[in-house]
Order: sequence, then C-alpha cells, then structure tokens
Amino acid sequence: MTRSGQEYLESLRDGRSVWLDGERVRDVTRHPAFRNTAGSIARLYDLAHDSAHTPVLTRDGVHRAFAVPRDYGDLVARRQAYKVWAESSFGFLGRTPDYMAGGAAGFAAAPGVFTTEGFDGAANALAYHRRLAEGDLYPTFTITNPQAAPTPFDAAGGTAADDPVVRVVAEKDGGIVVSGAKMIGTAAVFGNEVVVGTIEPLAPRDVDRAVCFSIPVDTPGLTFVSRVSYEGRARSVFDNPLSSRFDENDALLVCDEVFVPWESVLTYRNVDASFGMWWRTPAYVNFVHQAATRFWTKLEFLAGLAILLTRSNGTYELPPVTQAIGRLLGKVAQAKAFVLAAEASYEEVDGGRGGVMPGKDISYAQRIMAGELYPAAVQEIKLLAGGGVIQLPASGEDLLHPELGPVVARYLRAPGQSSEERIKLLKLAWDALGSEFASRHEQYERFYHGAPHVYLMQQAWEGDTASCERLARACLDGYALGGEPEGPDSR
Ligand SMILES: Cc1cc2nc3c(=O)[nH]c(=O)nc-3n(C[C@H](O)[C@H](O)[C@H](O)COP(=O)(O)OP(=O)(O)OC[C@H]3O[C@@H](n4cnc5c(N)ncnc54)[C@H](O)[C@@H]3O)c2cc1C
Repeated sequence: MTRSGQEYLESLRDGRSVWLDGERVRDVTRHPAFRNTAGSIARLYDLAHDSAHTPVLTRDGVHRAFAVPRDYGDLVARRQAYKVWAESSFGFLGRTPDYMAGGAAGFAAAPGVFTTEGFDGAANALAYHRRLAEGDLYPTFTITNPQAAPTPFDAAGGTAADDPVVRVVAEKDGGIVVSGAKMIGTAAVFGNEVVVGTIEPLAPRDVDRAVCFSIPVDTPGLTFVSRVSYEGRARSVFDNPLSSRFDENDALLVCDEVFVPWESVLTYRNVDASFGMWWRTPAYVNFVHQAATRFWTKLEFLAGLAILLTRSNGTYELPPVTQAIGRLLGKVAQAKAFVLAAEASYEEVDGGRGGVMPGKDISYAQRIMAGELYPAAVQEIKLLAGGGVIQLPASGEDLLHPELGPVVARYLRAPGQSSEERIKLLKLAWDALGSEFASRHEQYERFYHGAPHVYLMQQAWEGDTASCERLARACLDGYALGGEPEGPDSR
C-alpha cells in the first residue's frame, strides 16, 4: 500500500546525518530549512489517498512509477501519474519519489545487465525494485563524481587511498566497505534510500570506483552536506512562495568507511556494468519520461505566469507582447510534444520480456531541447516583466503595517487589481525567474541530465545518422555534372 504523508514524515526521523551551516540537523521534518519542503513531499503521498487521484497515481495499491510498463497504455498511465505530482509543485520539485522509482523499474525490466563475471547483482536489482515498491520508499541517487576530483593514478605520487570519489576500500564478511564522496544528492536528505553509483564512463583500471549500491539514508558513516537552504532564507510563503515550499535541496554525499551488505550491491568492481546499468536498462529513459512531463508542467506554469504578469502590467494586448506569449505557448507545446512522441515511439525492452520504454531517440533529444529552451523562456518572461518584480516591498509586513500599508496600497497596484494581489503575483514571478532559487533551477535544467558536451556527443553517436545521411545522399545521387533532369517535353 502507498504510504500516507504522515507515515512518510515519520520515516525521515531516523537520525540521518544531515549538516547545514555547521550544524547537524536533528530532524529535517521540523528544521526551518527543510520542513516546508518535507511537507510538500508529504502532500504528494497524501494525494495517492485522495479518491480523485488514487486511480491515476496507483494501480493495485502501488504507485504507477514503480510499475514496469507492458504496453503503450501503461506509458500513458504512468505519465498521467507523473503529471499529477508535477502539478503539485508547479514543476519545481524535480526529484520527487517517482523519478528514481522509474529508474528502479528500469533495472527490474532488464536485470540481466547486472549479471557479470565475478558478481551477479541481478537478484539484488530485482529485490531493490520490490523493496521500494512494497514499502513505497523514496529513492534518490548520487551518480556524479565531485567536480575536479583528481584521478589518483594520474596525480604524481597519488594512490588509491587519496581518491576523493566513492570507491571500495575493503571486503568484509557479508559485504563491502566504501569511502569517498559523490555529488549532487538532489532531494537526498528527504529520501529513504540513496543509490550511489557512477554514470560516467570509467577507465578499465577504475575498478574500485566501479560499484553501485543502494543504502538507507541513516546508514552509519553516511553524511550529507547540504547546500544553502533557500527555504531557510525565505521570509514567508507570501514573500517567497516557491523557495519556501519547494526547495528540494542538493547535498554532497560523503561515505566514511560505510559498510554495504552484499544484498544492497548492484554492481561490483565492474566498469562496464556500473556504466551500462543506466543505459542498457530503461532506467535513464524512464528518468527522462518523468522529467519531461515535469518540464512540460513547469513551462505551462511559467507561460501562465507570463500571461498574468503582462495582463497586470497592461501590456498583454500590445502585438509584440502577445507574440511573445505566443512564442511561450509554442514552447509549452514543444515540451508536451516530446513527452507524447517519446511514448508513441515506444520500444520493446529485452525483446519484449522487459515490457516497453519510451523511444530512446526522442527521449535523449528532450535533454537538448529542454536545456536550451528553459533559460530562453526565463529570459523572455523577464523581458516582459520589467522593473515591477524588483520594486517590491521587502516583505508582506509592509502591507500589514497600519501606517505604511495604505501608502503601498495606493502606489503599487494595477487597474482592477489590489496592491496585495499585484505584489503577490510579482513576488511569485521573482521567485520563479530571478531569485537564487530561480537561478538554481536554471542550472538544474541545464545540467541534471548531464552536461551538454556529454549528451550532444551521445546524440550524435546513438542518433539515427543513417536515415539522415540516406536522404541527403539520395538527393546527391539524383543528379550529376552535365546531366539535366528529364522534363515533361522529353516524354
Ligand atoms: C541543480 C543540480 C542538481 C543535480 N542533481 C544531481 C543528482 O541528484 N544526482 C547526481 O548524480 N547528479 C546530479 N547533478 C549533477 C549533474 O549530473 C552534473 O552536474 C552533470 O553531469 C555535469 O557534470 P559536472 O557538474 O561535473 O560538469 P562538468 O562535466 O565539469 O562540465 C561543466 C562544463 O565544463 C565544460 N567541459 C567539461 N568537460 C568537458 C569536455 N570534456 N569537453 C567539453 N567541455 C567540457 C563544459 O562547458 C561543461 O558544460 C545535478 C546538477 C545540478 C546542477
């Protein structure tokens, strides 16, 4: 059965080691830097118990994101579930539990990838998926090495012991011991289990780093160093409506001699499987299915914001402004089209034994579109917004003040809109477009799928170059020097 929001919140009170500002956070559900976001996630769990959403979000008591899709209809049903949760945060919570749930379903669809010489992780991958689905657990992942981490073997005099990246340091009875760090654990402090692995291709000698496992967030020796909390800095929900409630946080994951039982190990000292588990199973494509649905939702929200802003500013009817709104709506349609097209071009997994997944080519291309489109959309709306988003009272307290409130009310308003309504709208717009939280979102949309230099190369290597070349070649082959096409007169 799916958990209630309250059950989810209780699961976070487990003594996990989360640090912020030099302080160990005792309880993320109560700490001012995390509690509202924990509450927003709890509401996602409650939605599954709301009769209006239960049939969309669950099947047979399990969230649809955990299901291995068997046909096109299952993909559509999964997307409809993704959409309900995405709308709950207007697209600003990227790593809701359904993200890695899809990854786990991807592992379960192609467990053979985990069977390698020396270690067979297939049963563990299936058990991982089952454990999450049955417990309705919140999985997250850290699969990126800390930026600029030196490769110990390349550094003069370096040894494996100097390696700052998560690696195997010992084998013990019943499991392995790992040490090192990974970035960036988005929402990891709100999860129940975290996958630690690598999505980067490794050199054959990097076998110590070639390990992937999933462990509970309260595992001894596991520490999360949180980035600055936008929620913690937020003045109030009125002043910072998004950052105060949807700050999923990003944390550095540090393992200090963490013991990982064999049952939790998915790949072990195998370079090929540690990389291939993301690409030769539907895991990554399933990630994109969730992310593309959320992205489409976020753009719908931003376009809606642009409409409300320009109406409030009295500029909506100006042709260049209306055209800009048209351009934004075109971008929304583009984002939606990627989701629908990836579903319609679904592919069989493992000859159909692993069900289906959204089409790879279009899913991979979504990363290129979204990474370029998001910053452009934000710039477009900022241009439409003008200075009103800056010229705002520091907080809602100014509006409530008996002396100052009427002054603000008199000067900051728009035709047909009270000052409170207009200030509320402008503060929401700035939180979405210009705040530190907004800036993090721009970076997120650009990088969470990986860096452009990686995914552009991958698109070129794995994209359908043959069809494109064939068509260009057919045109070239249709004429020759000195030859003229046969016209109707020659018949
Ligand atoms: C907000 C946010 C949330 C994230 N959440 C997660 C998460 O939950 N889990 C997780 O595992 N990861 C997460 N990531 C990490 C993300 O996967 C990485 O940021 C991404 O893979 C890029 O890697 P990098 O940051 O090391 O950048 P780099 O690889 O260092 O690239 C940065 C830039 O350097 C240049 N560059 C570097 N190398 C080359 C090259 N070989 N050729 C050409 N140009 C190059 C390019 O300009 C590139 O854009 C998150 C990232 C962000 C920003």
